[in-house]
Amino acid sequence: MNNPRSHELFTRASELLPGGVNSPVRAFKSVGGEPFFAQRAQGAYLYDVDGHRYIDYVGSWGPMIAGHAHPQVLAAVETTMRNGLSFGVPNALEVTMAEAITRIVPSCEMVRMVNSGTEATLSAIRVARGATGRSRIVKFEGCYHGHGDSFLVKAGSGALTLGLPNSPGVPAALADLTLTLPYNDFDAATGLFDEAGSEIAGLIIEPIVGNANCIVPKDGYLQHLRALCTKHGVLLIFDEVMTGFRVALGGAQQRYGITPDLSTFGKIIGGGMPVGAYGGRRDLMSQVAPSGPIYQAGTLSGNPVAMAAGLATLELIQQPGFHDALERSTHALCDGLEAAAREAGIAFHTTRAPGMFGLYFRDGPVESFADAMGSDTQRFNRFFHGMLERGVYLAPSAFEAGFMSSAHGEAEIAQTIEAARATFATL
Ligand code: PLP
Repeated sequence: MNNPRSHELFTRASELLPGGVNSPVRAFKSVGGEPFFAQRAQGAYLYDVDGHRYIDYVGSWGPMIAGHAHPQVLAAVETTMRNGLSFGVPNALEVTMAEAITRIVPSCEMVRMVNSGTEATLSAIRVARGATGRSRIVKFEGCYHGHGDSFLVKAGSGALTLGLPNSPGVPAALADLTLTLPYNDFDAATGLFDEAGSEIAGLIIEPIVGNANCIVPKDGYLQHLRALCTKHGVLLIFDEVMTGFRVALGGAQQRYGITPDLSTFGKIIGGGMPVGAYGGRRDLMSQVAPSGPIYQAGTLSGNPVAMAAGLATLELIQQPGFHDALERSTHALCDGLEAAAREAGIAFHTTRAPGMFGLYFRDGPVESFADAMGSDTQRFNRFFHGMLERGVYLAPSAFEAGFMSSAHGEAEIAQTIEAARATFATL
């Protein structure tokens, strides 16, 4: 593509930022080529500095569920920022946010705001360890919970995309405390808990895996994990940084009817501003400082502008039928893409949850991390660039979920399917 301004910016950035970016997957390293630099975004569209327009299925990696630059979110930010950007003392919007989260997600009887999903998951496992007096945690192959040391063990997202699931710099003594399981494997979980259940503080899971493409739980799987955790005194932690407020208003825990002990959030509750949160049972959360001894703090936590953006977004997604419409449009997109691939005779499969989808260049079903890894990544990379040239921006990795927003209407979906039809013909 002809991107002279983006190229010039990326050349300058590459001198000063590792890989030219502030977060790895943005660098397009696995799909090849160079990233484009954003000029602005509106609704379902991203506009780059070279004048191209893209239908955006990344949505800032999840927060933009109501579309970019939604007027109600911008108005809330504008009004709030005029009163000051950060106070360092409590503000009323933090209380409103805590009330909103605990009302929408009943398993969260108390909540603590932080500044990113990574902070939320780090804090949640600290609570699990502090409350149980145990040291080990369990995570799942291909799941990503931010870049905390304990999570960079068989990690998903950029770590997986770049082939770095276990990062240098994580002390072996700490990594050894992280046990891993294959997602959707009932027996493996039972076996591990029988062996080591009494040493495990918490099990953390993306209830729908969005960082190894998009893998949904088999019937009864999350219930199985809930039962194992209860039996062995292990805290069940749902990492809903991606799924929270997206796959249902009350997240995956509402969709699948599970009550975790702790949950983590981010993305949507910041409406595009830097935010995270963790919450859960009152007896656990009340052990967090200053009401209890488990320490966690943040200079900018509960930032008023971030709270305002998040609250405005939460208001938008609580409109009746919001998630049903999101689910319908996700199906319309995925059905259309599958039909276009079939016409072209290309092995292709999609997985879906409301507002999230996975694309695989292989036949289905895709139920495990191993299945997801069986996708033809070279073909995905060619597809990615073909779509980009036709004005559609997909996640620049074969292992990241795509995101829909309420701004993706029939016209955008039809245009995306048309672009896919043309691209499939070239693969
Ligand atoms: N947990 C999940 C499920 C995520 O998808 C992410 C980020 O994509 C994180 C945690 C980390 O969040 P952040 O990037 O805000 O630190």
